[in-house]
Amino acid sequence: MVGKICRELKRLISLRSLQARIFIIVLAAGFIPSVIVRYGILNNYEEQSVQQRIYNVQNQLMIVGNHLISNNYFNTKPEGYTSSVSREVIDAELEMISNLYEGRVMIIDSSLKVVKDTYGISTGRTIISEEVIKCFRGESISNYDSSHGYIEMTTPIIDSSDDSGQIVGVMLTSISNEAIVAMLEVLDRKSVILQNLMIVVIVAMAMLLSVMLTRPFNRVTEAINEVSAGYSDESISVPDYAETVHIVDAFNQLLKRMRALDNSRQEFVENVSHELKTPMAAIKVLADSLAGQRDVPVELYQEFFSDIVSEIDRENQIITDLLALVKMDKKAQELNITSLNMNDLVELILKRLRPLARKKDVEVIFESVRPVVAEVDEVKMTLIMTNLVENAIKYNKENGWVKVELDADHQFFTFRVSDSGLGIPEESLTNIYERFYRVDKSHSRDIGGTGLGLAITKSAVLMHRGSITVTSVEGEGSSFTVKIPLSGAVSGGAAFAS
Ligand code: ADP
Repeated sequence: MVGKICRELKRLISLRSLQARIFIIVLAAGFIPSVIVRYGILNNYEEQSVQQRIYNVQNQLMIVGNHLISNNYFNTKPEGYTSSVSREVIDAELEMISNLYEGRVMIIDSSLKVVKDTYGISTGRTIISEEVIKCFRGESISNYDSSHGYIEMTTPIIDSSDDSGQIVGVMLTSISNEAIVAMLEVLDRKSVILQNLMIVVIVAMAMLLSVMLTRPFNRVTEAINEVSAGYSDESISVPDYAETVHIVDAFNQLLKRMRALDNSRQEFVENVSHELKTPMAAIKVLADSLAGQRDVPVELYQEFFSDIVSEIDRENQIITDLLALVKMDKKAQELNITSLNMNDLVELILKRLRPLARKKDVEVIFESVRPVVAEVDEVKMTLIMTNLVENAIKYNKENGWVKVELDADHQFFTFRVSDSGLGIPEESLTNIYERFYRVDKSHSRDIGGTGLGLAITKSAVLMHRGSITVTSVEGEGSSFTVKIPLSGAVSGGAAFAS
């Protein structure tokens, strides 16, 4: 249990787990926007508040500025004067603004002299400031210093009594921003609480989703484990996602193939046992009957012993064929490829088989369209040709014929064996390559067939990347055609003998 938990944790940490990835993606998808929104809202609020504050102060300063002009605060008009009452009213207005916005207002005339400072520190002094000079040139500024929490601005005092619109003075104002900062702090605290709540919800959602979304994959694993542990024989089904359906389909296909393989192996073992037992049973019967009799005539002994020998030969033949088949089935087995004159090979095989054909009164004809040289495994090629010609002779009628043809194009050579024999029923045509399949068991057995010849032949043809086809009419004869690449088993290319 502890080991399992450790393994799960390791898998999660290494990020190879889909569950961990979903968890992180959902977490990031929920967390990142919430942080962005939080900072976005706070920044936006700060910006808007500062702008609003600047706008309000500027408006009030403009009004004061108009009062300054109308009351000839700067004594710019020779005929005008400023009464002490008006000056006091204006000063009170300025005091009120500086108190209201917790700041300082300085009024500077065109000679850069401070004529009024609400702090009372700089009155009468000359101020040389870039912002003030710029403002006299018509470029008023407003700066927000967020680190020190104040806003600085310049406001031109424009003489609108004549049409010149001359800037006769500048108001240099700095106001505190503490109210906004305090509000921001409150907002920030609230948003932190909200964000923490959201993180809890997002983490819970991420965990839930990662578990829920990966559950079908766990179900696939469980179902496969059940099958491999042997609890279930059924095909599995997890229809939750298209992906799980694909995985499960592929697994079911594999399962089907493995079961078919298992069945065919079982069937093969049964067939082998049966085939090997039959000659043994016959030998036992023959031996028992000899042992059970007294004074058995010599002729009977001889007859029984010759039967026993032929049963032993048959047993031997089955074992030889089985060994050939097993060798052929070993995929790793390499082909021993050599460049071979196929015409010579056919001639040699026919020479070996002619005595058998003569015994059955069957005529063997060889038709070679052209000389053929191919890259093949000599032993396996001999097996293919011998099996096909031997079958054509074995399953023939008396005075029948067997025709062997050899031809080639630039890619393949074709080896065809036709006969005038018994033919193969249509329903058996697809089965003849199966191990131990015989159309007529007793007949085949009589003429020494094991039912393995065509299985061996087909394996050998496939090893050469070739094909084997058959056409047959029952009672009239059969024709087997083998098509093999001239050098396909090694590489591409053609080879004709000159
Ligand atoms: P066997 O060793 O019994 O000949 P094969 O695998 O070579 O086994 O052939 C399988 C069966 O196909 C044979 O038992 C026979 O019934 C049938 N068969 C094969 N070749 C021919 C043929 N040329 N004509 C008629 N039947 C054939």
